[in-house]
Amino acid sequence: MSNKRGRMLIVSGPTASGKSTLWRRLVLHEQVTFSVSATTRQMRRGEVDGRDYQFLAKDKFEQLVADGAFLEYAEVHGCYYGTLRENVESAIDAGLDIVLEIDVEGARQLRECDLPQVSLFVNPPSLEVLAQRLRDRGTETEEQMARRLSVVEREMACANQYDHVVVNNDLEQMIAEVGDILEIQIP
Ligand code: 5GP
Repeated sequence: MSNKRGRMLIVSGPTASGKSTLWRRLVLHEQVTFSVSATTRQMRRGEVDGRDYQFLAKDKFEQLVADGAFLEYAEVHGCYYGTLRENVESAIDAGLDIVLEIDVEGARQLRECDLPQVSLFVNPPSLEVLAQRLRDRGTETEEQMARRLSVVEREMACANQYDHVVVNNDLEQMIAEVGDILEIQIP
């Protein structure tokens, strides 16, 4: 085993931009793991507690905030989301890169911590393509979708705060580009 510490790989981007597909590919690499966030939002069909998120009641989440257990947390679309410090630090110390799929506010908070990190912002080809992808996914009600689309432009305005911005015109091309940036071969 090497003594090299791992890095946080921070991945943000608007909803349905392709960032989830990107991190699912990244974690196929043996040196890359995923930070399972805690959240107070409702579990979606197909999601598994402890794999996709740690689903917590609001009072439990607030207790962990008070205990200082989070490296960062934010309220997104009316629910809390946060990264537990312990998960990230243990991965980095074990020499693993750990992917954090988080919103722009969480990424901003992480910029201030002194853990090694590379941040990536995934942009969709256009707002029209993004709206269509969201419709195709069909997991949100019209009202939830309208709420999500309304924050997309605000999120995209933060892209220049990231180390790298990639555009998901072509998935495989985007993944290859990220591999070059991180200097790893993504399976
Ligand atoms: P979703 O509900 O679609 O799974 O995620 C909604 C948003 O929450 C996404 O923008 C995602 O990046 C963000 N998110 C997920 N986990 C975390 C986290 O641990 N911290 C923060 N700040 N945002 C998160």
